[in-house]
Amino acid sequence: MSRFLPLIAAFASACAGGDAPAPDEGPQAAEGPAFDAQRAWTHLKAQVAIGPRHSGSEGAERTREYLEEHLEAAGLTPVREAFTAVTPVGSIEFCNLYVDLPGTGGEDQPIFVIASHYDTKRLGPNFVGANDGGSSTAVLLELARVVAEGPKRPVTYRFLFLDGEEAVREQWRDPDNRYGSKYHVERIKKQGLDARVKICVLLDMVGDKDLKLTLDQYSDEDLVALFERTAKQNDLGRYVWSARMPVLDDHISFSEGLSIPVIDLIDFQYGPRNAWWHTDEDSLDKCSAESLGVTGTLVLAALPELETAYGK
Ligand SMILES: [Zn+2]
Repeated sequence: MSRFLPLIAAFASACAGGDAPAPDEGPQAAEGPAFDAQRAWTHLKAQVAIGPRHSGSEGAERTREYLEEHLEAAGLTPVREAFTAVTPVGSIEFCNLYVDLPGTGGEDQPIFVIASHYDTKRLGPNFVGANDGGSSTAVLLELARVVAEGPKRPVTYRFLFLDGEEAVREQWRDPDNRYGSKYHVERIKKQGLDARVKICVLLDMVGDKDLKLTLDQYSDEDLVALFERTAKQNDLGRYVWSARMPVLDDHISFSEGLSIPVIDLIDFQYGPRNAWWHTDEDSLDKCSAESLGVTGTLVLAALPELETAYGK
């Protein structure tokens, strides 16, 4: 991630159970499996166990293999999007990974992108990016399973695991950042899919034990309001919108490149004065399964309203 950040909201939902009819409240009750926070936590631990996962590293490849294994187990077909880009330290091999889950909308149905970067910043052998890189990737992987195993939805969902979000140099200075998202947006245009891609929901740094999503000023106002409303309706309002600040992240590639509404669900207050961000302190003990669960639940809860508002 970059030096500024975004925010988001959440939602919740108890599993249906028992005999009583569900009360008529909030967005429609989700059918299908619930978001499994413990499963997401397992995905986070697995990434941290790999170690550094910066672009072009062996750890990045092992991460892709892990993602592919679990996406395939959910019945999905991951696509690799490999490319080479020139960086301040020379050419690097990058590789995005995504799966498309077609909905019921027929040909040319809208595509909703839900994304996370999986690369970690190049900060030496002890930086494992539990929160920055690991947490949102874990949530996205579990979200892909839950949505795939649930009832068919009206739009196509693209679960996009981005490489190369992090600047290769220490400082975030264009064009040294967002390699994967910029490439992916160009590919969308070349493939003629740009008219179908309606929104991008980006997840980043969502594992902080003390989760409070940041209100990112580059995020679309209507999407911010939608997620805030969803969070409140699902008793997750306390997890959204603390600091308000501009956050530079992969969502910018989608808003600039495709002119679509985007939102960055990110908690950019990680430790006192964000002290754990981009340091070896970004470790598993600062994160929690609960925070992964809040984020996953919030995104799932927002899907019906997103489909109503943007799925035409
Ligand atoms: Zn970062």
